[in-house]
Amino acid sequence: MVDFVPGGPIDPVSKRMPLEASGVYICPVCRHGQISQMVLMDAFACNFCRHILSVNFETQTVRLEDSSQGFRWQWMGQGWRSLHQRPMEFTYTVVVLGILFVLMPPALVWLGYHTFPPLPDAPGHWFPLVWVGLTFCAHLGVVLRLCLDVYQPILVRLRRFL
Ligand SMILES: [Zn+2]
Repeated sequence: MVDFVPGGPIDPVSKRMPLEASGVYICPVCRHGQISQMVLMDAFACNFCRHILSVNFETQTVRLEDSSQGFRWQWMGQGWRSLHQRPMEFTYTVVVLGILFVLMPPALVWLGYHTFPPLPDAPGHWFPLVWVGLTFCAHLGVVLRLCLDVYQPILVRLRRFL
């Protein structure tokens, strides 16, 4: 493997190009758009999926900044090599914790409603049940957002074929 000097010339033997600030490269996230340096920033942005990647020219790596997972890729001269691990597996523990996270808070709100029910003719007697629904939707949204965050690179690649 050839070691690249940041900003150095193209390796004449292998025709590999180093990762440079002025370069335009295929996006490692969606593998469809192109990433190039953002104006006045040490970061690259994709013109297709709009992800922002920080660049380390010494290690020839980029890191996905708008994700909590910290996905990284290394530039190999002609393409990217993934440095992140496989997406989190859906183990039984994760699934059970996700279900508990979605169901327990609305169940507690419902238990309070059931234990101390409002008077039937009181104004807003419907509100506790709406609150149960809102609590369920909010917690379900958190779980779905985490799932999307983990699997987003896969989904973006799948979107190319839809
Ligand atoms: Zn992209």
